[in-house]
Amino acid sequence: MIRDAAITWHLLREARRSSRRPSDWFRLRQEGVLRRLLRHAYDRVPLYRRLWDESGFRPEAFRTLADLERVPPLSKPRLKEADPTDTIAAGTNTASCMTAATSGSTGAPMQFLLGPFERCWNRAVAWRILFEHGFRWTDRTLEIRMTKGPTYAIQRLGVAPKVWMSILEPPSAWVDRLVSEQPQCVMAGAGTLDLLAAAIGDAPVRPPQIVISDSETLTPSIRMRIHAALGTDPIDVYGLEEVSNFAWECERRAGLHISADSHIVEVGAPPGEIGPLTVTALGMWTMPFIRYQTGDLAAASPHACPCGRTLPLLSSLHGRAVDSIELSGGRRLLWPFFHELLGGVRGVIHWQAVQETGTDIVVRVVLSPPSDDQTARIAATLRDRLPGECTLRVESVKSIPPEANGKRRLVIPRRP
Ligand SMILES: [Zn+2]
Repeated sequence: MIRDAAITWHLLREARRSSRRPSDWFRLRQEGVLRRLLRHAYDRVPLYRRLWDESGFRPEAFRTLADLERVPPLSKPRLKEADPTDTIAAGTNTASCMTAATSGSTGAPMQFLLGPFERCWNRAVAWRILFEHGFRWTDRTLEIRMTKGPTYAIQRLGVAPKVWMSILEPPSAWVDRLVSEQPQCVMAGAGTLDLLAAAIGDAPVRPPQIVISDSETLTPSIRMRIHAALGTDPIDVYGLEEVSNFAWECERRAGLHISADSHIVEVGAPPGEIGPLTVTALGMWTMPFIRYQTGDLAAASPHACPCGRTLPLLSSLHGRAVDSIELSGGRRLLWPFFHELLGGVRGVIHWQAVQETGTDIVVRVVLSPPSDDQTARIAATLRDRLPGECTLRVESVKSIPPEANGKRRLVIPRRP
């Protein structure tokens, strides 16, 4: 335990120090670590050896970041199809590892393995984001998730203590806990925070210093509702369960900073344009993730952040490519399209767009109060803006239930 705490503390200190280093420092660090990681993966992880052999790539072909695109990317289907033992470094003592699983929002959950070092690295990477926002070791956190996470021995001793709650508990129970614990930090998915905000009413909630919103899309209207109810503007944080969180808003809310000391993030489009997001986790050696295609869409920012941190910025995240409606000619309807039309409409509490067939779209709205006139107005506005080939139906519903994994999807495409 003491060894783990020391490693985590060291990693966290290094991460925090890196936030304002010159950009050359990140480049040299990423190149140095990636050279070693590529060699390690090729020599010891059968999945990567096979993948790279197929396209004739050898680790020594990577010298600088200019060579990054020569490293074959790893797709999620390829990783899921692989024999699990082929994804893990040969010689790993699996008894010392922890198995974790993704929540499987668009398919079967995927298991991944964290060795003793990765567990420390994971914690440091996640804590770093909190510390960038003034977190202190004595601060208490309330975290609401589908699956409650571990409580580390060090937390039981009062270091960064955490209260776990389940998203299956009623929102009123979360509010009670929020009032009784007065946590300095609250962490949950955007949809969960939205439900929490709606349940607060006039409960005497002390505004937390930090509210972390992750896992789901934080739309501007959800952000406003959370801010109004909790008294704290939420921080949008992005990551994947398998490689931890690696992009986060700073106090300027000018985009999402990338933790470039721990992750290499690529956007497959020029700065300012939307493209697929690929990530490499520099601290994962037991089960490496190298040029892992996340399936999410983002835009890199061409600007530096006014906060003075030198970490690169994503100007926007557009959620998952699979959470968009594809029309003919490769056009896509992403959540901001619907948000722009529905986010500001009076009475719209929640919405969800579902593609029923190629061109038939159903938009479900939760209205407060329910109103046929308002439903008809929403339908008229949407019909006006949707491409001509689409047919649209707007349904006023009492609620929009979450998926089995507890997450809410804003846009659901037709199943292939
Ligand atoms: Zn910043």
